[in-house]
Formats: sequence, structure tokens, C-alpha cells
Amino acid sequence: MTIELLFYTQIASILAYVAASFALYRLLVAKKDSTIELLEKHNGVLEAKIRALELQAPDVLTDALSRRIDSAKKEIAALSEDGDLHRAEIEQKKKDLKGLTNRLGVLQGILKENSLVCPTCFSIEASHDVRVTKMELNGQESDVFVGYSQYECGMATLGSNQVKPCPKSIES
Ligand SMILES: [Zn+2]
Repeated sequence: MTIELLFYTQIASILAYVAASFALYRLLVAKKDSTIELLEKHNGVLEAKIRALELQAPDVLTDALSRRIDSAKKEIAALSEDGDLHRAEIEQKKKDLKGLTNRLGVLQGILKENSLVCPTCFSIEASHDVRVTKMELNGQESDVFVGYSQYECGMATLGSNQVKPCPKSIES
């Protein structure tokens, strides 16, 4: 083997090594990309779950409180049937009921203030998005972004305007 040949073989092997490293590097980057993509997808799923939970939580809370109020009422009714025997107990239960009713009121107030529930029937907000609407500002018509909310009962609001009334507000 001449020195020249040896030199070229070495160059070739170095080039092959660089090419292999580069391929490996690209493979790693691609894998990293797909890992990131997978993580992003996973994050998206988690975010959606959290959002669903956030929306559900007030509903679950108010339901649980309503159930407890119902059972407290039943207990009071049952105790009342026994008459004087349970007077103290009845008073305590009535106090509990008042406390529960207050808490439900506060909770519903919070939900109402944040427009998370229909103010008439307290059904939960089903969807919320932002819409563009024309509005007159300083004598000029311009596009403004307004929140559009739809509630499970059918009521819909655009900003502070009710565009579809709650079916329960029509009944009464
Ligand atoms: Zn409603």
C-alpha cells in the first residue's frame, strides 16, 4: 500500500464516519421532534381534560350541595314526625340546612357573576368563543370582539346581550 492510498482510505473512512454521525444526529433530531410532538399532543389532551373538569367542577359542587340540602330536608321531615322527642335535633338540622342553603347561594352567585351558569335556571355554560360583531363606537361602525356563550338550557349571550333566552324564563 502506498502512502497516498493509505491517506485516501483514511479520508474516506473519516468521511464515512462523519456521514454516519450526521445520519445518526438527524435520526435523533427526528426522534426528538416526534417526542416533542407526542408531548404536545399529550399536553393538549391534558389541557382539554382540565378544562372539562373546570367546567364540570362547579356543576358537581352545586349538585352535591343540592343533594345534601334535599337529604337535610328529608331528615327534618322524618324527625318532625317524631314530635317533641327530637326538638333539639330538629333545630340543629334546620341550622345545618340554612348553612347549606347559604353556601349554595354563595356558590351560585359566584358562578352567575362569572357568567358560568344561566342566571335563570343555573344550567352550566356549554361553550364559549369569541365573535366579531359590528358596533358603533364614537359615531363610527367598527368590528369588536365579543364573547359568545351558549348554555346547556339553550340560552345564549353575546357580550352582555341575551341573544337567546332561557326556555325557563319563557315558561314563567
Ligand atoms: Zn337557563
